[in-house]
Amino acid sequence: MKLLTREERKFKVSVSENVRKRMAEGSWIRKMFEEGIVLKQRYGAENVFDLSLGNPIIEPPDELHNELKKLVEHPLPGMHRYMPNAGYDETRSAVAEQLALETGIKFTLDDIVMTCGAAGAMNVVLKTILNQGDEVIIFAPYFAEYLNYVDNHGGIARILPADEQFLPRLDTLEAGIGAKTRAVIINSPNNPSGAVYSEDLIHQMGELIQKKEAQYGKEIFLISDEAYRKIIYDGLKYPSPLHHHRQSIIVTSHSKDLALPGERIGYIAIHPDCRHREELLDGFIFCNRTLGFVNAPALIQRLVRHLQSTTVSIAWYQQKRDFLYNHLTEAGYSVAKPQGAFYMFPKSPLEDDVAFVRELQKLKVLTVPGSGFGTPGYFRIAYCVDDRTLEGSIAGFREAIKKLGVG
Ligand code: PLP
Repeated sequence: MKLLTREERKFKVSVSENVRKRMAEGSWIRKMFEEGIVLKQRYGAENVFDLSLGNPIIEPPDELHNELKKLVEHPLPGMHRYMPNAGYDETRSAVAEQLALETGIKFTLDDIVMTCGAAGAMNVVLKTILNQGDEVIIFAPYFAEYLNYVDNHGGIARILPADEQFLPRLDTLEAGIGAKTRAVIINSPNNPSGAVYSEDLIHQMGELIQKKEAQYGKEIFLISDEAYRKIIYDGLKYPSPLHHHRQSIIVTSHSKDLALPGERIGYIAIHPDCRHREELLDGFIFCNRTLGFVNAPALIQRLVRHLQSTTVSIAWYQQKRDFLYNHLTEAGYSVAKPQGAFYMFPKSPLEDDVAFVRELQKLKVLTVPGSGFGTPGYFRIAYCVDDRTLEGSIAGFREAIKKLGVG
């Protein structure tokens, strides 16, 4: 951390204690990414194999550029103005239609609020439902920003460990839900493990949550982070949690399925039969505005309206998953085969995952320690990279495990 000048010390000018603490805890992903920049400057980008970031290199589908061209050539009057805070009706209708098609649940535009990415969606939902001190259950390994998002809105993250396959354990969930539990966050396909929850598991989780709702006489929301819903392999069908719990809310985005993370476009979808649905929706729309997002970006809403049934190539990702999985297991790594997303979460051959990630770094392969996802003893590989980077990393993975004499 940067040293303070004498004047800064005198006036004690500083960020809040909480932000200071959270920044110090820091994000391992950012840290590895920044260290990667230094390595690339030193050795040349082509000699460093950066698998640290979930920032897809794949370009969005051609349809996006076609729609963009149409808009540029035939601009609509008022297309850059403010709009209703929930987003354009046409876009919300298109989202609802696609969701209805995928789930068989009768969504309408009134169930949808367009947001600034899945991150914006999650913050809006948490802001809307949390009272100070409410608990939110999160399963480790988790997307680390959840901890900050829960804290943003006065909640307390209650972390529960998942099983060996990175799936929630029902006994742990049963013991973990208490009088203060307000929500359970699930993320399938999962970042960082690539695990996909089965229909049966979600069903049992839904039953358990409803039992606890009855026991405590309060609503417990299931917040389903579906940022990777469409990146799913081996012909698997995505089981929607909405079939198993009425108080369910989807938060998602097109950051990954259309490769648009810089455009900040996502949405919230509420179960059409959710109790207090209308009040909740009013809350989402209010919070979208008052958190300062106001509305999701206008231009990109116009575009994704036409892209609801489109995705980037899933086969492109599956090929990379297979390539990496085969090489890592051959080299002696222990890996649960991911069924979706574009991450792999192998066991660290060293008990100290940070030390192992440092070993890989010496071999110019950048990954993120499992500690950054609440699960020490593992490390995350993001394989949303080009073939050259992925192929180039294999020698380093082999060398690291060989050096330790465990492969
Ligand atoms: N949720 C998960 C599980 C993620 O991995 C990410 C981004 O990597 C997000 C949410 C945030 O997505 P967005 O960029 O759409 O805000």
